[in-house]
Amino acid sequence: MNEKRGIDDLRPDTIATHAGRDPAHHAGAVNPPIYHASTILFDRVEAYRRRQELFYDGVGYGLYGTPTMLALAEAVAALEGAKRAVVLSSGTAAIAAVFIALTEAGTHVLVPDNVYGPVRAFCTSVLERFGVETTYYDPALGAGINAMIRPETRLVYMESPGSLTFEMQDIRAIASVARARGVATVHDGSWASPMFLRSLAIGVDVAIQSGTKYLGGHSDIIFGTVATDDEGIFRRIKEAAGRLGNRLGGEDCFLALRGIRTLPVRMARHQETGLRLARWLAAQPQVKRVLHPALASDPGHDLWLRDFTGASGLFGVLLHPVPDEKLVRMIESLRLFKMGSSWGGFESLIVPADPRPLRTATTWRDDGPLVRIHAGLEDVRDLEDDLTRGLALLAAG
Ligand SMILES: *Cc1c(COP(=O)(O)O)cnc(C)c1O
Repeated sequence: MNEKRGIDDLRPDTIATHAGRDPAHHAGAVNPPIYHASTILFDRVEAYRRRQELFYDGVGYGLYGTPTMLALAEAVAALEGAKRAVVLSSGTAAIAAVFIALTEAGTHVLVPDNVYGPVRAFCTSVLERFGVETTYYDPALGAGINAMIRPETRLVYMESPGSLTFEMQDIRAIASVARARGVATVHDGSWASPMFLRSLAIGVDVAIQSGTKYLGGHSDIIFGTVATDDEGIFRRIKEAAGRLGNRLGGEDCFLALRGIRTLPVRMARHQETGLRLARWLAAQPQVKRVLHPALASDPGHDLWLRDFTGASGLFGVLLHPVPDEKLVRMIESLRLFKMGSSWGGFESLIVPADPRPLRTATTWRDDGPLVRIHAGLEDVRDLEDDLTRGLALLAAG
């Protein structure tokens, strides 16, 4: 598949426009059509008997791949600068398939303490029951991860910046130490999207995206992606996805591809608006600290500068302590920032967050309330006006 792509020399914005398209095979239509398919018909007995050969990258049964699904996988591989990609029914399913593919009973995984909450829940409620042990590590640990790797460690998981609290990890140092020990590294790069970080290019073995967020970009689909250069790892992940019966429907593949076409322009705008709001918020008296790695004051700024080519629109705002009623009133008063899980769509969001119950290896010490903001594609001046009114309620007696 990869050899056929022929666009790997192009720059990311151009790849987002062209990847996964093949008009010559679709009556000249610019976009691949939506295939709805379960049964795939074969003319020849010989071909039917060998249909297993189509499991990894062909069309033999709708569960394992349709042309629309393969077009999306090809686009994702190109965006991630990877040889191979698998698309799954959610980011959570992508994460689950990777853990299942790379571990077995009696093995061990390392997971950062600030990881996306459902990953921790998966380790506890699934991996543990199947005999895979999880150790949580301080996300500030770089090459020091070496001391935590055991003979039975199969995987070092990373998420940088981390969910809710936005700590940056030294991905390069961890990847290089793990590689030297023969342990696979996995990075959930949903925050940056492949536009601002290609995880594989800095040494990671497996790059995960919650496509639900920026790739989809319109708050109307759920999907996940996994990309790798390692054919063996690709096969194990594809195998896991197949055996779990995990697949992404044609309609959603189509919408995912449509989202990808505008990813570069959306990311540029999310970055610009997010940074402007972050800087403005940092100067407000009600705000204690803004958690945004692209701010020079952020502890992770140097790592962000070294590894990332941009910042998305998602960041945290730590407020000075206020009674909870005031925080509730502030959030509920907002006109444009609406409250809801997920992010990465065109609209701005705000949610209250509490990282404390999600930690076991480290302690979150800040006592002020934390809110997570997603800067959407609205006019930034309207967003600032909205937050100005909200923050005034925090100050009011
Ligand atoms: C949302 C999210 C996921 C899970 O994605 P879904 O598509 O909602 O299952 C995984 N990782 C991170 C960092 C996320 O924010």
